[in-house]
Amino acid sequence: MSQSSLVIALTKGRILDEVLPLFERAGIVPSEDINSSRKLIFATNLENVKLMVIRGTDVPTYVQFGSADMGVVGKDLLMEYGGEEFYEPLDLKLAQCRLMTAAPVGVDLSSGAQTGSRLRIASKFVNITRRYFAEQGRQIELIKLNGALELAPSMGLADAIVDIVDSGKTLKANGLQPLDLIAEVSSRVIVNKASLKIKNSAIREILGKLKSAVDAG
Ligand code: AMP
Repeated sequence: MSQSSLVIALTKGRILDEVLPLFERAGIVPSEDINSSRKLIFATNLENVKLMVIRGTDVPTYVQFGSADMGVVGKDLLMEYGGEEFYEPLDLKLAQCRLMTAAPVGVDLSSGAQTGSRLRIASKFVNITRRYFAEQGRQIELIKLNGALELAPSMGLADAIVDIVDSGKTLKANGLQPLDLIAEVSSRVIVNKASLKIKNSAIREILGKLKSAVDAG
């Protein structure tokens, strides 16, 4: 691939449905319909720009190692990935939601804090959860799950969960209520540090186009 060729890793799924229209407004359009193709990498109307479509959890990895120059990924996954391996120059303000603690209605997570009894917390965001409760000075027992977290309290697996909340309907339907806000989440653009040096003008041009599209709402 030539030096000036830029690869942007996008997160598939719900974020993609919001990100592709923004990219289109920014003048970056894939040359075929991403959703109806089994390909994972796509040319665009811009000769030097390619789009990869992968799982959100893999976007930081591709960008860290420079296999993708730029990426679009939720702040939740960036916080979970950790590290300072890339720049995060732009908030696309899409796929907005909150990362929160949640527990069965009526359960008070602060009870037991004085006695030092351990809360059992289920999450797929194990690094975020560990950090958050450590900052609170709470010892927890962390249970890693990969999905359907909302079931864990009612099945006796955990006292509470750390999860993404949008409307709150999923929590409510499972007898849970949101408690503490850990972070506001939205889709962010990340850039590989070496790419920014080597492909500075191409990356700045893309960032400029995306920023104008974000600012235009
Ligand atoms: P809600 O019932 O509207 O609160 O949606 C909550 C569920 O939708 C969560 O369990 C998440 O898995 C998922 N969800 C909502 N918004 C997002 C987002 N922006 N990114 C990833 N997952 C989300």
